[in-house]
Amino acid sequence: MSRNYESLHDPNAEYTMRELSAETMGTTGTRGGDRDVEITDVQTTMVDGNFPWTLVRVYTDAGVVGTGEAYWGAGVPELIERMKPFVVGENPLDIDRLYEHLIQKMSGEGSVEGVTVTAISGIEVALHDLAGKILDVPAYQLLGGKYRDKMRVYCDCHTESEADPEACADEAERVVDELGYDALKFDLDVPSGFEKDRANRHLRPGEIRHKAEIVEKVTERVKDKADVSFDCHWTFSGGSAKRLADAIEEYDVWWLEDPVPPENLEVQEEVTKSTTTPITVGENRYRVTELRRLIENQAVDIVAPDLPKVGGMRETRKIADVANQYYVPVAMHNVASPVATMAAAHVGTSIPNSLAIEYHSYELGWWEDLVEEDVIEDGYIEVPEEPGLGLTLDMDTVEEHMVDGETLFDEA
Ligand SMILES: [Mg+2]
Repeated sequence: MSRNYESLHDPNAEYTMRELSAETMGTTGTRGGDRDVEITDVQTTMVDGNFPWTLVRVYTDAGVVGTGEAYWGAGVPELIERMKPFVVGENPLDIDRLYEHLIQKMSGEGSVEGVTVTAISGIEVALHDLAGKILDVPAYQLLGGKYRDKMRVYCDCHTESEADPEACADEAERVVDELGYDALKFDLDVPSGFEKDRANRHLRPGEIRHKAEIVEKVTERVKDKADVSFDCHWTFSGGSAKRLADAIEEYDVWWLEDPVPPENLEVQEEVTKSTTTPITVGENRYRVTELRRLIENQAVDIVAPDLPKVGGMRETRKIADVANQYYVPVAMHNVASPVATMAAAHVGTSIPNSLAIEYHSYELGWWEDLVEEDVIEDGYIEVPEEPGLGLTLDMDTVEEHMVDGETLFDEA
């Protein structure tokens, strides 16, 4: 049959694209006992956190439900709804095959990068929760086991006076002493008062001095108590980034994040190799195919994939494996609810080169109420021994904070 939009989205359509469905590969019904399970439904609910978290649930005929989360973004729930026919009827234990099946089926939408990969990530995380529950093992066990019992978490910090070096230092001290974190991040793309034209990406000397002062005040204040990183959000030219990285080499900087725009890898590599300040990049790249280039070119000192955006738990694991061949640590970018944060903890504990996971919601009082379990304690996540991700959604909190127009998940 000719290939058109309808045929691409018909699960029964025959066409020449490489097929990875159970029907084609003959894998349906090859499992015995409790592992002979079929996916019956996929649902999403968006929760209005400090980002619109997209929670995903995969239902089965065994009554077991897997919960996942996709990174926020326009169209993600619609894409997940579109993908539902491609996984319903499949065995959820075939995580890799279903992931590749979705990548293939959604290639027209653009599954090399972007929101389609994000949407697939949400399903992939839910499949790990589901597989862990079916097999009665924690998700980290599906990834090869543990390197550590607790995952270190770094706290993304903000102040109302983000350009005041002393205010940043005060907040750093408060987060360390009162909230118990030993790892922090502050924004460094803040106004200094010296800007003339921010569109040209060039940093004037006064801007460099101001940023170096923030770095100096914060790192000196929490010296020997916490590691501190600084985020630039892809703002500066290569030359300016090199001058900034050079100016802060004398301070105890954990890392400098995204100093230059993300498109040009050669500029990124040049900046990273110019300085002893550790450079971190990765949160807006997708899949191991893109992150691999950053790592192989040694354009990063630390790589920062965002798990519910980059392709999910196994894709993050693959990125970590490539990074480990270059002795590059992994610091997972994360702005998610407890669901994808815990998914990151399971991956983080399963890889040797794990540095830390971001926590981006310390100003949101109810973040942890979304689940029944404790998640972050004293700046660390103790990786659960319960099956799957080891979390139980608190449906009252989900319902209370649902985005307008959303409907609550069905019961299992
Ligand atoms: Mg960042």
